[in-house]
Amino acid sequence: MPVLPDEELTAAANRLEEAGVRLVTGSVVDPAGVIRAKHVPARRARAFHVNGMGASPSWNVFCVDNAIAFTPRFGVVGDLRLRADLTALRVLGDGVAWAPAEMFDQDGAPAEVCTRGLLRRTTAALAERGLQARLGCELEMVLTPRSGPGWNAYGLGALLDVEPYVLDLLDAADRAGLPIEQIHAEYGDSQLEFSIAPTDPITAADHVVLARLLACRVARHHDVAVSFSPLPFAGGSGNGAHQHLSLSRNGTPLLSGGSGPHGLTDDGGAAIGGVIAGLPELSAVFAGSVLSPHRLQPGHWSGAFACWGWENREAAVRLCAATAGNPHGASVELKCIDPSANPYLAAAVFLGLALEGIDAGAPLPPEVTVAPAELSAEEAARTGAVRLPDDQAAALEALEGSERAKRLLGEEIMEALTAVRRYELTTYGEQDVEAVAEKLRYAWSA
Ligand code: GLU
Ligand code: MG
Repeated sequence: MPVLPDEELTAAANRLEEAGVRLVTGSVVDPAGVIRAKHVPARRARAFHVNGMGASPSWNVFCVDNAIAFTPRFGVVGDLRLRADLTALRVLGDGVAWAPAEMFDQDGAPAEVCTRGLLRRTTAALAERGLQARLGCELEMVLTPRSGPGWNAYGLGALLDVEPYVLDLLDAADRAGLPIEQIHAEYGDSQLEFSIAPTDPITAADHVVLARLLACRVARHHDVAVSFSPLPFAGGSGNGAHQHLSLSRNGTPLLSGGSGPHGLTDDGGAAIGGVIAGLPELSAVFAGSVLSPHRLQPGHWSGAFACWGWENREAAVRLCAATAGNPHGASVELKCIDPSANPYLAAAVFLGLALEGIDAGAPLPPEVTVAPAELSAEEAARTGAVRLPDDQAAALEALEGSERAKRLLGEEIMEALTAVRRYELTTYGEQDVEAVAEKLRYAWSA
């Protein structure tokens, strides 16, 4: 993230003044998926961008419950600078603005541990090969305390119960330039979902953070709270945080217009092959928290099997083909991602796996056209569909033993991510799931 030239900094300062902004918030998402932030008076926005605000390296090993999983690299000594990306700044209203931040060292070099920086490097690697990616994100969340008499999945009445909240959320999104595409009552009690229009990967991940900020900010005016936990209530529906990826080369789509199944091109098929090949090892990036395995179950539409299929909502990779009903064009939805995942890291690894698949010409596995849990042993072997790790320890072991993971994450993110997730495992792994769901219900909220 280069330092903006002086005239752009002046223009940004003028914009803040004209909009009556008094407070600028800059946020990062840590490896545990928690959004952390620093705030400055608006007149300090320039310094927030140029010099950055200080943060201990241990920010990267803060845990979901505020414990700190110190490692040799991430301790009490040292300083990182959080630099706000003013090109991505959004005015939220009421005198407040928000911008995503990136981590740098004190001399201005990008910090390897920064997940937004990793996503930036990954999109640059795509661009070097003439490839462009677009990402659209879905957010599922549960409003608490429960409102209304009952909740019907996709029910009209369910949405009417929360209509004033939804209307305020739409207004807040419009003001902040967050392109919400649709909203519905999801399957779980008091569960809402909204999806965000596809855009470039960094903006898409920024949008996830902004959307969570707005959802939680508006909730405060409606006397409700919002849970972005993978398992808000034990035994209830989980929250997903699916991402839809589309790829093109010099403007030509890779997931449609080809001669493969459902119009996939060779590169499009190789991208899917790369994602599926890496999923079992990288599952801890997408669904790595102590609560994630309770959501990532067959029958929950959460994508618990590494396989793909056209409009298959039980496959980790669901292909949405280019049809009149899908004006954004074909995409692959990665369904195993939940909201405890850092959205920058999830996007970087999703793209990184697709890119490795393209580079290697990875084979496209046979399509799975039924719920993968129902496949016979022969069909599972033929399609290569495998269950993603079904407990946190197995997911972490797979990650730690994976050369692919080391390549895609880099040493520093690997160290921080495994430290915070191992802390969750040793602290909560043996506890009753009801108690853990309650304890961590708002850990991923703003
Ligand atoms: N709530 C499901 C999940 O945890 C997803 C339901 C759906 O949108 O398909 O991912
Ligand atoms: Mg959904």
